[in-house]
Amino acid sequence: MGNKLKFKFDNYQRHFQQPLRTSHGVWRTREGIIISLESEAGISQGEIAPLPWFGSETMSQALEFCQQLGKTVDSEDIAGIPDYLPACQFALESAWLNLAKNKPKRQLDNLDYCYLLPAGKKALTSWQDYQAATTFKWKIGVFPLATEIEILKQLITILPTGTKLRLDANGGLNLQQAKELLSVTDRLTAVEFVEQPLSPKNFTEILQLSREHTTPLALDESVASFKQLQLAYERGWRGIFVIKAAIMGFPRKIKQFCQANSLDVVLSSVFETKVGRNAVLNLAQELYHPRAVGFGVQYFY
Ligand code: MG
Repeated sequence: MGNKLKFKFDNYQRHFQQPLRTSHGVWRTREGIIISLESEAGISQGEIAPLPWFGSETMSQALEFCQQLGKTVDSEDIAGIPDYLPACQFALESAWLNLAKNKPKRQLDNLDYCYLLPAGKKALTSWQDYQAATTFKWKIGVFPLATEIEILKQLITILPTGTKLRLDANGGLNLQQAKELLSVTDRLTAVEFVEQPLSPKNFTEILQLSREHTTPLALDESVASFKQLQLAYERGWRGIFVIKAAIMGFPRKIKQFCQANSLDVVLSSVFETKVGRNAVLNLAQELYHPRAVGFGVQYFY
């Protein structure tokens, strides 16, 4: 048995300044739980930030878990958190690792961040609010494809030279549309990658697209859980993996898998608070990741 640590938790609610449109409807409030572990060495926090429509536990499952844990936990309790509670696994192991290592706070400002642009024509003007940004993400599959391709061509001509653009379809295109889009982006070097062009149901088709086109492709919805990440790799995916670490389980397990297989990853936000974000950024710094992290989202609060 490891040392007993004092365990506390507190749930929070944060409202977005502007509600977020997701493929699952409008999202207005981020709910989560800040946990803390205390030893003689100090206190360390972790964040449970569930995203149930992306495959994690629900807020009430997470709360129930915290309530039954009691007032103290040890390393075995943490290692024993079941796989259906991936956000709890991430929060408690992150906090525990921080406490165990007692490492000094790292500088997190040497990472590149990716900024989210609004869908449609608004992207043409709103990028100017983030002049220093080197990478933008633009949601597609929202308006008719022909319209979006026209806006894309304009956007590429007005963005500063060297700026990278990620196109995120959230699985919203059909095969024909994806091919049409990729035949355009194959000629646009500013497009860093196209994210989740087709639904996760169409894994084989996405794999095929990645072999037929030069535009790099990224999986996001297809790799919502650690198991799905492993499976996509086993089925031959060698493109980019978007990793929402805060809902993917134990950080050590994520790190080991990514490193062992030299995965090309983009660490991405689930709209955590600073506590969860720092834990994910700590992980990002330990991984080989030449790509900007998907955390340019602070302005939503
Ligand atoms: Mg995405």
